[in-house]
Amino acid sequence: MEAGNPCQEYQRRKRWFWTFFFGFPVFTVILNESLGLPFSYIVPLYVVLHIAIGNWFANFPCPRCGEPFHSGYWFNLPYHNDFAAKCVNCGLPKWANDWTEKNEEKDKGDSVH
Ligand SMILES: [Zn+2]
Repeated sequence: MEAGNPCQEYQRRKRWFWTFFFGFPVFTVILNESLGLPFSYIVPLYVVLHIAIGNWFANFPCPRCGEPFHSGYWFNLPYHNDFAAKCVNCGLPKWANDWTEKNEEKDKGDSVH
């Protein structure tokens, strides 16, 4: 895995989440037909994996502020939006041209010469 570009990491997590979400019918049929697992085993397994992958996606850290991109607080109440177009904590747009460039600009602004 390439650790450099946060955009690619975000895309990768999102792809895993939605592929697994919409792949449920295929996932269950393959496990049922090939391994002979009953649906009463497959569905709980799917639910546990779906929760794990969903949390992995939902806790993607914002490249600018480091807080979860989709989770924050709204008037001291926990807030979460998987479809947020910008970081709910600092407002960094989801598809800004280059998240790493934004980080460098912020770093330059912090240092006084
Ligand atoms: Zn942020």
